[in-house]
Amino acid sequence: MKYDYLIVGCGLFGAVFAHEAKKAGKRVLIIDKRPHVAGNVYTENIEGIQVHKYGAHIFHTNNQRVWKYVTQFAEFNRFINAPVANYKGELYSLPFNMYTFNKMWGVVTPEEAFEKIASQRNCAGITNPQNLEEQAISLVGFDIYEKLIKGYTEKQWGRSCRELPAFIINRLPIRFLFDNNYFNALYQGIPIGGYTRMVKNMLLDIEVCLETDYLKQKDVYDNVANKIIYTGAIDEFYQYRFGNLEYRSIRFETEYLQEVNHQGNAVVNYTDAETPWTRIIEHKWFEFGKNENGIDIPGTIISKEYSLEWKLGEEPYYPINDKKNKEIYDKYKKISDFDSDVIFGGRLGEYKYYDMDVTIERAMNVAEQEFGSK
Ligand code: UDP
Repeated sequence: MKYDYLIVGCGLFGAVFAHEAKKAGKRVLIIDKRPHVAGNVYTENIEGIQVHKYGAHIFHTNNQRVWKYVTQFAEFNRFINAPVANYKGELYSLPFNMYTFNKMWGVVTPEEAFEKIASQRNCAGITNPQNLEEQAISLVGFDIYEKLIKGYTEKQWGRSCRELPAFIINRLPIRFLFDNNYFNALYQGIPIGGYTRMVKNMLLDIEVCLETDYLKQKDVYDNVANKIIYTGAIDEFYQYRFGNLEYRSIRFETEYLQEVNHQGNAVVNYTDAETPWTRIIEHKWFEFGKNENGIDIPGTIISKEYSLEWKLGEEPYYPINDKKNKEIYDKYKKISDFDSDVIFGGRLGEYKYYDMDVTIERAMNVAEQEFGSK
């Protein structure tokens, strides 16, 4: 065999593993079917703006080990995510905090906000939340659920909040503080110069083949390495033999506007049911409106995100964490455990709603298992 490891997929999982394998003295080849590295964190410089081509990625972690790891490959800026929710023209601060409660109900103190939520929870009579709707109402009350959660969540997932698991909403923090910092993370920011450069730094001196579809040439590629790290969709790898897993996909409508400032924030969520997009990203604000030389960028680029059901041939984004899909995934996982020559990793390989830091940590752990800790 020419290589010790063939890594399928140049996203974060693949790139971290490739870096570690190379460092451990292994012979590594990493391939990707797309014409670029970096997977879904890929950013492209357009008119001096780093455009997040597959959706906004804001790095955040509480894990010091992961933070130390990523900062080897990029310097991070001090971007803090403070999204705004637009409900039929009314603007609210996210995540749910004292600014949101004040705008919604006119309450001024945390105690008043707490009482308002408690009384709405009691009215709804929910003691043991069984689904996202019940969980949301019991956490933030009826009004916030109706205006800021229901429409957005149903657009994003294409399912009723009553059919969705409660834990999805637990990603959203609730604070009785005047604090719009979405991620309550110790470390956060955006890599200066873009994610693509960061991933390229991970892949320095590593052989990369782009526009190379492993599954289309499986016979060839299975014979180039002793072991495979596969970061594509696990159901596709096994030719959908137990049926296909479901995902949500996203369509992006990206446009350049000759305006300095379109929406005054990097992220604005449209939380009503009627607006067809879920959110608008104005990419330049991830870098404070300046290019790499610190010069103000004259124009702007926005992306509207439309959430849709994934169909074969489209890009899968979010795994659907419901019972039906979990049962299918468990079958794939079971057979993959017997496949000792293949390791599955990343959002698609493990069918998990992973954030970037978790993806990196998992790749570091797999590398450690393979090569021993350093
Ligand atoms: N969510 C919501 N209203 C918002 C933003 C998020 O109800 O304005 C809910 C929604 O159910 C979503 C979940 O919170 O699926 C997690 O949102 P997050 O922004 O973390 O999702 P991601 O950034 O991964 O797309």
